[in-house]
Amino acid sequence: MTIETNLQIVRTRIAQACHGAGRSSDAVQLLAVSKTATPEAVARAAACGQRDFGENYIQEGVEKIAALAHLGLVWHCIGPVQSNKTRLVAAHFDWVHSVDRLKIAQRLSEQRPPTLAPLNVCIQVNIDAGANKAGVAPHETLALAHAIAALPHVRLRGLMTLPEPAADFATALAVHRQATVLFDSLCASGLALDTLSMGMSADLEAAVQAGSTLVRVGSAIFGARGGA
Ligand SMILES: *Cc1c(COP(=O)(O)O)cnc(C)c1O
Repeated sequence: MTIETNLQIVRTRIAQACHGAGRSSDAVQLLAVSKTATPEAVARAAACGQRDFGENYIQEGVEKIAALAHLGLVWHCIGPVQSNKTRLVAAHFDWVHSVDRLKIAQRLSEQRPPTLAPLNVCIQVNIDAGANKAGVAPHETLALAHAIAALPHVRLRGLMTLPEPAADFATALAVHRQATVLFDSLCASGLALDTLSMGMSADLEAAVQAGSTLVRVGSAIFGARGGA
């Protein structure tokens, strides 16, 4: 199927999930995950009105950002950020979803070019203590969030989760609900957060039902990735 058709199907899935959850259809933003997709594929999605794109691999992302600069898209880094890559990320991306250490946030803040708006960041939380060890532990999230919120050149927007694939809808929903509870507790502690980045191609309905405000969808838009 074409990218145009796929995008339409994903938008319909999100709208139906919002409707089913009694949420407004504009309550959930679509981030198109374009890792391994070509710049041409990204441009086709952009021609259908898609503005926000997510990249995992920083070098690949920076190259695409440069190739497509004329389109004025919004770029999100959603993959692991090592210390030696923070300068590239701070200079080229608009968002980072995968911050899980204060040191990385401090470097991003220091290295954000002063001509650009503050870098939007989400804290990646290891919500299900999965084999995927990336992300801060839930009980450490509050302290990290307040430390990041105090940095001058980043703007803390919320949380990102990447749980292990769930066997069924109910299991996915339960895990996503834990993230929503954590998100709500951070808001109640005085942080002004607006982004709960959770849900992917396979589980976006459960994520929207649980309260996600941004779903990150790759393969359902751009097709299966070879080997990934
Ligand atoms: C690849 C990826 C996605 C998208 O996954 P799909 O299953 O292709 O929708 C979302 N978030 C992160 C962090 C990813 O690495």
